[in-house]
Amino acid sequence: MSHGFDLAERLRTREDRDLRRHLEVAERVAGRTRLAADPKAQAAEFDEEAVIFASNNYLGLADDSRVQRAAELGARTVGTGAGASRLVTGDTSLHRALERDLADCKGTERALVFSSGYAANVGTIDALDPDVVFSDELNHASIIDGCRVSGAETVVYDHCDVADLRAAMDRRSPAADEQWLVVTDSVFSMDGDVAPVSALCDLTERYGAWLMVDEAHATGLFADGGGIVQRAGESDRVEIQLGTLSKTLASQGGYVAGDEALVEYLLNAARSFVFSTGLAPPSAAAAREALRIARETDRADRLWDRVERLRSGVEEMGYEVLGETHILPVLVGDRDDALALDQGLREYGIVVPAIRPPTVPEGTARLRVAPMATHTDADIRQCLDAFRAAGEEVGLL
Ligand code: PMP
Repeated sequence: MSHGFDLAERLRTREDRDLRRHLEVAERVAGRTRLAADPKAQAAEFDEEAVIFASNNYLGLADDSRVQRAAELGARTVGTGAGASRLVTGDTSLHRALERDLADCKGTERALVFSSGYAANVGTIDALDPDVVFSDELNHASIIDGCRVSGAETVVYDHCDVADLRAAMDRRSPAADEQWLVVTDSVFSMDGDVAPVSALCDLTERYGAWLMVDEAHATGLFADGGGIVQRAGESDRVEIQLGTLSKTLASQGGYVAGDEALVEYLLNAARSFVFSTGLAPPSAAAAREALRIARETDRADRLWDRVERLRSGVEEMGYEVLGETHILPVLVGDRDDALALDQGLREYGIVVPAIRPPTVPEGTARLRVAPMATHTDADIRQCLDAFRAAGEEVGLL
């Protein structure tokens, strides 16, 4: 009898269910890079350069020389790692400077940075210890895990459906002292659509609940470097604004922005903050410089220009593009067609990942096109030409 783990068998099961994932190595984080199939323990052997329309580095700041210099300076002046939890000796001037800027951008009293957006979501929901969480059905896995870890009763409402949420809140009439949390992504990463933040504020106010908005995909791209909460003018009505430093802000880490009591409570009670080493100082410095660039330059306008050209170009060919943001999910439907289109685009040097069930509902397989502000006119043309040629080859056009 064995009490060990048969991982090869588990991997086979995943393979059989079409759920086995594979790594691919990128030479650099940029709009164009060479890629290599998973070399396992060997050194990577890179293919020809490809144009990447699959990164969350939306403003293309991960290889921006200003951001690189900020990270370098952070490493040299403060250190490469925080060396301890923020509560011990890992709290540095760079963390504080970034938190001041984030709070200013989000219109809140304070902000607190975590070592990832994942850690921010799990730590925050767990620390709040709500009696009930109302959660959008398409919320990110880190929100779902936060609900699980907290042990709260979790009520999942239909995607962006305020009427369904309201009905769920009505049905679940609260005991007098219950504490309720409504949580939603702002921009949904697989659908490119946007949560109805103002309507959610109305509802949470009505029930005396709190609203938590995960701006992972929106931070840095909307009003003055803010997210959807700022675009909606609701900074004062959303109790918890949360996001990541790893997408538009071209770094690593997560943040929570809110009032003084929220931040003071989380730095005491969020286990993923208390028991994890502080964010690496170069990451804090890089994110701060990226936030400055997002707020003070026209970088975001350049992204929206590329988004518009790609969306209209792909739609004119006859594809259906979902959503209303910088994330362009090109609907294909059948999972095998989506994979074939993904492969076909690669033949033309364009990388766009196929997103298949169970990540998205059956029959809604799609290609998630993520333009970057740094894509050139030639990159956009190459992408559009590839969508036409590969689409015709696969029989979608
Ligand atoms: N929330 C959302 C909506 C996300 O898309 C992600 C990242 N995929 C996270 C949280 C987690 O952020 P991080 O990558 O910094 O852990």
